Amino acid sequence: MPLDRLERLQTWLLRGLLITLGLLVLVIAVGVQQGRLTGPRVSRKLGQLLALPGLDRPRVALIAGHSGFDTGAMCDDGLMEVMITEDLAARTAELLREEGVRTSVLKEYDPELEGLLVDALVSIHVDSCIPLSGFKVASAEETRIPERDAQLVACLTDRYAKATGLGLHPNTETSDMFGYHAFQRVADETPGAIIEVGFLGGDRELLQGRPEQVAEGIAQGILCFLEEARPTPTPTNNPESPVRGGLQSPR
Ligand SMILES: [Zn+2]
Repeated sequence: MPLDRLERLQTWLLRGLLITLGLLVLVIAVGVQQGRLTGPRVSRKLGQLLALPGLDRPRVALIAGHSGFDTGAMCDDGLMEVMITEDLAARTAELLREEGVRTSVLKEYDPELEGLLVDALVSIHVDSCIPLSGFKVASAEETRIPERDAQLVACLTDRYAKATGLGLHPNTETSDMFGYHAFQRVADETPGAIIEVGFLGGDRELLQGRPEQVAEGIAQGILCFLEEARPTPTPTNNPESPVRGGLQSPR
């Protein structure tokens, strides 16, 4: 092949490559600007495109209640709520990571909460030292994703009861729970729930003696929610088709 023809061919190839790259960047930029592609979604799409392992795995954030702030409830014998929540958050995170969920453990007022966009946020707390028994789960009173929040609460309630044998402490969710500060800090699209795993008073045997069951209950509740939220493959060729409560259809 003559030299000038080879050079021309190289030039054309280079131009083609640059145009393709430019178009790709443009498509992503427009998608992000129109809000159709959020950050994690872009990485998910890219992860699928490039078949990179890990990028499309769900993300979960756990708050170890009172961690880095105060002790929470404190009993006469010195047992503090924060000792239980930090232990449980670490155990739950380990269980979720074993299932391939990218999990971070945050402090009560962790700066990372601001605008946090994850597939689920769960804050772990323990009730007071009075001799009562039972657990509670609640989500934000004011939310833009009521169905998904309710789904998270339902999953946590069901799986936690099954794993621990503990009963629901009925109708005692407080405004502290519904108006929980972290619900207002995270992104509108982040489903969130707060769980009071039992009473330091009446449920001490479970909380201190069987913490692995408590963590299992929380982890199973979150996995149940992620499983229900995962989009199921549709027979159409359109991956953008809306899926009920889908991970990929943030509102
Ligand atoms: Zn608390």
